[in-house]
Amino acid sequence: MAINESNLNSKIWLSPPHMSGHEQEFIAEAFKFNWIAPLGPNVNGFEKDIEKYLNHNSFATVLSSGTAALHLALVLLGINKGDEVICQTKTFVASVNPVTYLGANPIFVDSELDTWNMCPVLLEKTINERIKKGKKPKAIIVINLYGMPYHVNHIHAISKKYNIPVVEDSAEAFGSHVNDQKCGTFGDYSILSFNGNKIITTSGGGALICRNQTLKDRTVFLATQAKEVGQEYEHKTIGYNYRMSNVIAGIGRGQMKVLDEYVEKRRANYNYYYQHLNTIESISFLKEPKTYYSNRWLTCIVLGSKETRDDLLTLLNKNNIEARPSWKPMHLQPLYKDAPAYLNGVSNNLYEKGLCLPSGSNLQEKDLERIVKLIQAYFE
Ligand SMILES: *Cc1c(COP(=O)(O)O)cnc(C)c1O
Repeated sequence: MAINESNLNSKIWLSPPHMSGHEQEFIAEAFKFNWIAPLGPNVNGFEKDIEKYLNHNSFATVLSSGTAALHLALVLLGINKGDEVICQTKTFVASVNPVTYLGANPIFVDSELDTWNMCPVLLEKTINERIKKGKKPKAIIVINLYGMPYHVNHIHAISKKYNIPVVEDSAEAFGSHVNDQKCGTFGDYSILSFNGNKIITTSGGGALICRNQTLKDRTVFLATQAKEVGQEYEHKTIGYNYRMSNVIAGIGRGQMKVLDEYVEKRRANYNYYYQHLNTIESISFLKEPKTYYSNRWLTCIVLGSKETRDDLLTLLNKNNIEARPSWKPMHLQPLYKDAPAYLNGVSNNLYEKGLCLPSGSNLQEKDLERIVKLIQAYFE
């Protein structure tokens, strides 16, 4: 068989969309019955599919993005101008911007080494210091970064002790679980994202998961311009245009059929990298704590130094392989440089030395081989 060179060197993406083939039937239905609107059978069906999958006191509302879901979670919690909201500094900026939309102030907390998510010890210290300064934080936004669940037991014990609700940003962790309880069910509110780079995608979209029907009804109300009941266009509250399109929701229904399969594939990617690179002394991996199960949305390795990380990043990119540095923490962002931050060095270290490797569910064995060989050759 002739191997052509362009194939050998074709672009390998970090986390591309992966259509299953089931999506088109649902989209065709939407067209057939003219449900080309932000409501319809696919919207309802996608929500039911998500609730069934999460299988734990979950009431899902599908929305235009994960960011919109976070925004509505904070609105439902009554976050207002001048309030303080505790945020994990190690994340993507979308986890924090909704705090700013509301005129509230993010207070950043660093990560711990077991999960790379919010450090419970530092969280409690931060709460106490903010209370001493005169303001009790109104909410805690915690992340399941790269698919790895946060320290659920510790974080929720603190949330309970101080009576501060938790918003669980599970944008990267659909399909992950702890002790068989799925990520997306731990927070007082939880959010999912279906952006083009996530484990399943609707091109763009998200979901807010509430814990009862009344809150779900309120979410739908707020997401559809907060129009009061009746024929008149009467409004008493600020609303948003955040509902998901019924066409897009059709993609989601098709993707739900393969979610578990995609989790398996991403975990297999991680295992492949681990098997082939773990013996290299200056490469380390994030292991799963006992009873934790990560969807391994992205495999992120940590190198011995920033120089090595930068070298590898350049090397992979030069070879038409998309790799990325690990998320730049929020306290280092020009946007949030003046916000209070409670730090321990973990997120800075991960940012300087972390490298995200291609992790798509449609990655081929030959792609994995190509990536691993380049990295191995670098260290030889
Ligand atoms: C992708 C992502 C979001 C935002 O989701 P969108 O659907 O893109 O708005 C929020 N938080 C984290 C951690 C993410 O990775």
